[in-house]
Amino acid sequence: MLFIDGTWADAASAKEFESRDPATGEVLGTVADASREDAVRAIEAAHAAFPAWSARTAYDRAAILHRAWELMMAKREDLAQLMTREQGKPIRMARAEVTYAADFLLWFSEEAKRVYGETIPSSRVDQRYIVMHKPVGVAAAITPWNYPISMLTRKIGPALAAGCTIVVKPAEQTPLCAVETVKILEEAGVPAGVVNLVSSSDPVAVGEELVVNPLVRKISFTGSTEVGRLIGAQAGQHLKRVSMELGGHAPFIVFPDADPVRAAKGAAAVKLLNTGQACICPNRIFVHRDIAAAFIDTATGRLEGMAAGHGLTDGVTVGPLIDEAALDKMQRQVDDAVGKGAKVLTGGERLEGEGFDDGFFWAPTVITGVTPEMLIYREETFGPILPIIEFGDDDDVVAMANDTPYGLAAYLYTNNLSTALRTAEGLDFGIIGINDINPTSAAVPFGGMGDSGLGREGAKEGIHEYLDVKIAGIAL
Ligand code: NAP
Repeated sequence: MLFIDGTWADAASAKEFESRDPATGEVLGTVADASREDAVRAIEAAHAAFPAWSARTAYDRAAILHRAWELMMAKREDLAQLMTREQGKPIRMARAEVTYAADFLLWFSEEAKRVYGETIPSSRVDQRYIVMHKPVGVAAAITPWNYPISMLTRKIGPALAAGCTIVVKPAEQTPLCAVETVKILEEAGVPAGVVNLVSSSDPVAVGEELVVNPLVRKISFTGSTEVGRLIGAQAGQHLKRVSMELGGHAPFIVFPDADPVRAAKGAAAVKLLNTGQACICPNRIFVHRDIAAAFIDTATGRLEGMAAGHGLTDGVTVGPLIDEAALDKMQRQVDDAVGKGAKVLTGGERLEGEGFDDGFFWAPTVITGVTPEMLIYREETFGPILPIIEFGDDDDVVAMANDTPYGLAAYLYTNNLSTALRTAEGLDFGIIGINDINPTSAAVPFGGMGDSGLGREGAKEGIHEYLDVKIAGIAL
């Protein structure tokens, strides 16, 4: 069902599409398949709801978001089970994602009350300036499948807190998670038209409508750099505000003074986050050659010790990839690397046999001898492959890490404070983990540089993506 103007309804065409479990191929349910016509209705509903919603006090809006946080946490287990079935991540990671998703509702329920203005001194004695913020209007959100609930709340939370209304188009592979998220907002008391959901198997037409329709004043997109460019170009034609959270190609640097075992455990854990399907997963592991042997041994052992399977099975730490195309990408990157001289220490192939044949499973993989000529050195992997590059000179490694158009996350391990700070300052990335593999939270700005995007989500920066600034000059 689509959710438009506070009502769950079929698509105008009455068409539907299926959502499937990527581990088994089982059909989990069907959802309404929105067309451009439905997107227009959703935008008009959001436009109609905007004056009343933006006129409510920040305290009212905050109370509704707070209630939504409570409801999401109360339904955490059901949501996590659905997420594991629809998206594939192991249940412990799904539970963590629901908490992370709910955090954005809580954080922005608080932040709604802190949209402060300013007064600015004037050069004229008879004049005062005040700075005010106002919600931009109708926002449109387009989200990916890999974090199917938190990518929604990271946009809906600040949009509603700011006083905007919103139309959401979730990824085609995870519409059921989106439906349950929107049901929570409805139950929390979000008024009709304030949040609208248009699931669709036709992202081009629906996406284009969301971007070009003059009633939409803001587009927030999370997904691939390729689609982000397309949407950015369409939005530019219409001078729309955009936020873009795009692909990443994170470096993970291990300096010679670091503990290689601790660093390897960190690298293995963050690489396998969501089975390698996270924009902040490390994609290029730079390890100093003096400690490479210990690092490689530990990392290989960790990946070999992981259990693949359906994410709802006890002990499983590696789920399926999202589809056949993702498996093809793993094969292409591994074949290319091996053809150019890299060595596969473990994995390197699709998992087959009972429990795997109906899904999209790839064995956790360690590759050594990776060089800049290889695809895996250049392309986002989005799967459980750990490519290792040995380096000899600390002075070169920041330039090696920066040798990519992407700039989302980067990690470094060192016990030397100067090395840590100098490296963090030198890296052209928006999120840096220093001996830390979880440098994200609703309270800190999330986003990238270069081809990884524009704008920030979370933190106080996140709400300003949905606010315009205006000033008033007052003559006394
Ligand atoms: P994607 O293919 O770009 O899809 C993202 C969203 O865009 C989906 O809802 C998709 O709809 C829609 N879409 C596709 N083509 C479109 C078009 N022509 N016009 C409008 N919308 C269109 O990305 P994905 O495969 O779902 O997600 C993986 C990518 O997201 C990775 O590159 C990852 O790094 C990035 N990501 C970034 C962040 C971040 O915060 N920086 C977070 C998570 C993921 P359909 O589902 O119907 O195709």
